[in-house]
Amino acid sequence: MNKPMANEPTFRESVDLMYNRAVALMDLPPGLEQKIRVCNATYTVRFGVRLRGQIQTFTGYRAVHSEHMEPVKGGIRFAMAVDQDEVEALAALMTYKCALVETPFGGSKGGLCVDPRLYDEQEMEMITRRFAYELIKRDLINPSQNVPAPDMGTGEREMAWIADQYARMNTTDINAKACVTGKPLNAGGISGRVEATGRGVQYALREFFRHPEDKAAAGLDGSLEGKRVIVQGLGNVGYHAAKFLHDEDGAIITGIIERDGALFNEAGLDVDAVRDWIVKHGGVSGYPDANHSAEGGKVLEEACDILIPAALEGVINLSNADNIKAKLIIEAANGPVTAGADEILRTKGTVIIPDMYANAGGVTVSYFEWVKNLSHIRFGRMQRRQEEARHQLVVNELERLDEAMGDAWNLSPSFKQRYLRGADELELVRSGLDDTMRIAYQSMREVWHGRTDVTDLRTAAYIVAIDRVAKSYRAKGL
Ligand code: GLU
Repeated sequence: MNKPMANEPTFRESVDLMYNRAVALMDLPPGLEQKIRVCNATYTVRFGVRLRGQIQTFTGYRAVHSEHMEPVKGGIRFAMAVDQDEVEALAALMTYKCALVETPFGGSKGGLCVDPRLYDEQEMEMITRRFAYELIKRDLINPSQNVPAPDMGTGEREMAWIADQYARMNTTDINAKACVTGKPLNAGGISGRVEATGRGVQYALREFFRHPEDKAAAGLDGSLEGKRVIVQGLGNVGYHAAKFLHDEDGAIITGIIERDGALFNEAGLDVDAVRDWIVKHGGVSGYPDANHSAEGGKVLEEACDILIPAALEGVINLSNADNIKAKLIIEAANGPVTAGADEILRTKGTVIIPDMYANAGGVTVSYFEWVKNLSHIRFGRMQRRQEEARHQLVVNELERLDEAMGDAWNLSPSFKQRYLRGADELELVRSGLDDTMRIAYQSMREVWHGRTDVTDLRTAAYIVAIDRVAKSYRAKGL
């Protein structure tokens, strides 16, 4: 589907071009621009696993882009397209993303060339553990140096295997669980991590819609209610973003694009029904309540208010950028718009909420999980009941007044129940994520609107992030 054209830069070059646009507007000390741009190191490993009676060789990578803060952070992806260029581009984006949303990490990314659909669970466990072993013994997985997380093709299951592998190899490390995030709850994970990136997309859009000036720049007004949304990729990120935007904000999901084609329905698609169909049938083909188009990429070009590319990099490129009609693009995937396409869209006036901000919900909640693992206690465990007891005092007092005042003053019916509940871990995670997304957006928009030489959110995001990375280099005396 819509592969970048041959005359387009690679993914890593595309990230560098966007970086260069931003640093040209900054005043960095000589040489620092180059130091921040380059990827510090990329480790390549080839290892064998005996499967089905023969040894199969796999190739994996872990790129460390910047160690201005440690540990470095970033997911591990399992996909056939993984290569050094891709992990380096993704590691660089992690550096900028972490700086933008103020998670105290450097940037890293890993990947393994494997198609997980070709192996059963036991085989995947052997492959994952062996890859983890190779990275752990070189401290490329380590709670204080390098902390992976899920990415494309990986999830809670793989993270649990990695955590267990690390614990087996480091039996006395009391912080072993913090070696990886995105673990299942029963293996040291945190509530709300699975949905976190999709939730972050929702919070990012809500924040965007709080600013009339920003909506006007995209030719939009009002709220998210009734806005027509097209989502590319109904994986973990796309599914949660679409579901929350529909269920909680009243957006209409008019298009869903998948590997085997796309569904389109002006009246709106049922996200859960489509997801169930994909799980059962392996794709969207045959789904009854929509028009099906075998050429999924064409649906990217349908008119809509908000386009959410939530799958691969480079899907909006020189071949289709001219035809994109969406007013607002929010990059839930990493690098879905190439540098060339970005330029075309900017000229057309399309507003793009950039990946380093839009999909930062995942790493933000990963940060909360890492802190939880290091503090060895669930968020809210100490204060929840105390909070409830103090709320009870207020409720008692109000009830006393209520009685004394008769009909002149009444407590609203659900107040007591809503006010009494202390926050549990999930509520605290959501609150922390919402706060993070709001503050990071505001820091970008200050640069976007505050400087005449900055005309887009991506450049603004890079400027905020690079400035923070530069400051921490300076603090180190570099
Ligand atoms: N893979 C996700 C990303 O690209 C999450 C990274 C993390 O949680 O460390 O942001």
